[in-house]
Amino acid sequence: MTTDSTSSVLILGAGLSGLMAARRLVAAGRTVRVLEARDRVGGRTHAVPALPGAAPTDLGATWGWSHQPQLLGLARELGLAPFEQFSTGATAYETGGTVHRLPHPSGSAGYLRFTGGAAALAQAAAAALPAGTVQLNARATALRQLPDGVEVTVAENGRLRTYRADAVVVALPPRLAAHSLQFKPALPAAVQAAQQQMPTWMSHSMKSLVTYETPFWRSQGWSGFAVSQNGPLTEIHDASPPEGRPGVLFGFFAAPHPLRNAAPAAREAAVVAQLVRIFGPAAVHPLAYQELDWTREPYTSTPADEAAPLSVPLQGPPELRTPLWQGRLIWAGAETASGEWGRLDGAVEAGARAAAQVLAGQNLASQITQDKTQAT
Ligand SMILES: Cc1cc2nc3c(=O)[nH]c(=O)nc-3n(C[C@H](O)[C@H](O)[C@H](O)COP(=O)(O)OP(=O)(O)OC[C@H]3O[C@@H](n4cnc5c(N)ncnc54)[C@H](O)[C@@H]3O)c2cc1C
Repeated sequence: MTTDSTSSVLILGAGLSGLMAARRLVAAGRTVRVLEARDRVGGRTHAVPALPGAAPTDLGATWGWSHQPQLLGLARELGLAPFEQFSTGATAYETGGTVHRLPHPSGSAGYLRFTGGAAALAQAAAAALPAGTVQLNARATALRQLPDGVEVTVAENGRLRTYRADAVVVALPPRLAAHSLQFKPALPAAVQAAQQQMPTWMSHSMKSLVTYETPFWRSQGWSGFAVSQNGPLTEIHDASPPEGRPGVLFGFFAAPHPLRNAAPAAREAAVVAQLVRIFGPAAVHPLAYQELDWTREPYTSTPADEAAPLSVPLQGPPELRTPLWQGRLIWAGAETASGEWGRLDGAVEAGARAAAQVLAGQNLASQITQDKTQAT
């Protein structure tokens, strides 16, 4: 086991929340190291090219909303202007084997998207940090309180390593943190209960992306928005890039659905057959089919997150916004937010709040040290 003690703040998780915390702490002059288990940043934001060389399209989070100042503020800082979800045309409603054409506006009218996907926000935030701040393939396993800081054990390339810092920000979904991190001393029972009871937003979901040469449905008067009681996709949206080529549809796969455990080719065939039922024969030959089942992502979901939650809170519980270990252990993540729970905006808000809590704790510590020095 090797030890590295160069950072003043360790951040666990390079999702939008951890990266926002890093951004604010770096701006305040702190030395920060972000430890990320995956081989990429962004967490639940993840975009892949719809076709080789085409614009990245979201397999994770997609939308922001105009009432979300935290998210839109960060996007502005990063120079990423959102654009409106395509929504002109009819809504398709599939029930009992019949497709109804409804003149209603698309259910996603007015939603905001980002060029390059919501993942572009995390990528831009990471790129703006000093080189070497984010360490990929670094999975935290344990946290220990020290008299003057914290120690984090990390699995990197099959080896364990420890890092020490003045403070640590845990920016994992709370339930995943409870499931995969050891805390010494153990966390108070109320905090453990709060973590375990907190669902991880959209961890039960699965997205399918189907790419065509053009968004052919638009010229037939469809918006691309469809709701289906037949499935396997329950909700479908136009996910084409702003320039309109290639044409991309994305859909949420029903959860649960027997096809979730089938071979990918069987799922693709069922999805394409559904798109043909809804949008006609032009849907029969997609150029590409891609999918991601978030329940199978060990750095997002625990077994308890596989089913859709029956209800979700409006905000994270106060226990998950209250620093522990004399201000050295701080929580971030969309599920700890005080507004827009579970969403990108909540992730940004929670990251900024966690950074402010680190700074408040460190200012207090230096005041105490100063007082002690003055007293001697
Ligand atoms: C399919 C889908 C669709 C969604 N749609 C929307 C939407 O349209 N609009 C919206 O606002 N929100 C949406 N969301 C939710 C949105 O993605 C989240 O609110 C947001 O991305 C959460 O960011 P976060 O940083 O809090 O957590 P995460 O993105 O989960 O980041 C946590 C990070 O911690 C890392 N990690 C995990 N374990 C460890 C470990 N042991 N050590 C180190 N690192 C670790 C993970 O790899 C990850 O990078 C969607 C989510 C999904 C999955």
